[in-house]
Amino acid sequence: MRILLVEDDQMIGEAIRTSLRQLEYVVDWVRDGGLADSVLQTEHFDLVLLDLGLPGKDGIEVVRSLRLRKVSIPVIIITARDGLEDRIKGLDAGADDYVIKPFAIEELAARLRSALRRSSGQTEPAIQIGDVLINPATHEVKRHDVTVPLSAREYAMIEALLLRPGAILSRAQLEERMYGWGEEVESNTVEVYIHSVRRKLGTSFIQNVRGVGYFIPKPTSTTTSTPTT
Ligand code: CA
Repeated sequence: MRILLVEDDQMIGEAIRTSLRQLEYVVDWVRDGGLADSVLQTEHFDLVLLDLGLPGKDGIEVVRSLRLRKVSIPVIIITARDGLEDRIKGLDAGADDYVIKPFAIEELAARLRSALRRSSGQTEPAIQIGDVLINPATHEVKRHDVTVPLSAREYAMIEALLLRPGAILSRAQLEERMYGWGEEVESNTVEVYIHSVRRKLGTSFIQNVRGVGYFIPKPTSTTTSTPTT
């Protein structure tokens, strides 16, 4: 899961990036609102953590510009401005949620999981795909009720595919979701991870469309109830 962190405070940014990397997210960090706006137009991210008071462009303008372009990526505002007016402005501009600094990283992580869950249309906290059960909160993956150890990259790949079950991602799209800036990608990396995940979770867990890419079939959970409106 790849996150764009937009924060101009060096210490806060550093702390958030370190904590989220420990939680195995791919985190890229920019310190300027204008730069955030431009990378969001050219690169794929799964979520934006956005400060409001920023050089270049205000956070509110960054969200507004995303929504004007009809980009539905989840945005969580992280801000010290705890005034009611700012919160309302942020949400009205199209942000999904906010956390007020200082916050516990556990709370930020929980809000992040919840926003990602909503954006993938998934209402249940755990996902069942055939005989595989995935818990996004703990990153625990079980097959036939037995925990299967996965590396951080293997999990990142599964997470990328699970965000839109049934949708095909090309090798390049998977790479983009598994690696941040400055991380070296070897040429056959995706294939290597696909192979090892299939070995651990079964060959039908990740499916291949020759020459196009890979996908994870839609959840088969019998415990998921149809959401009522
Ligand atoms: Ca700031």
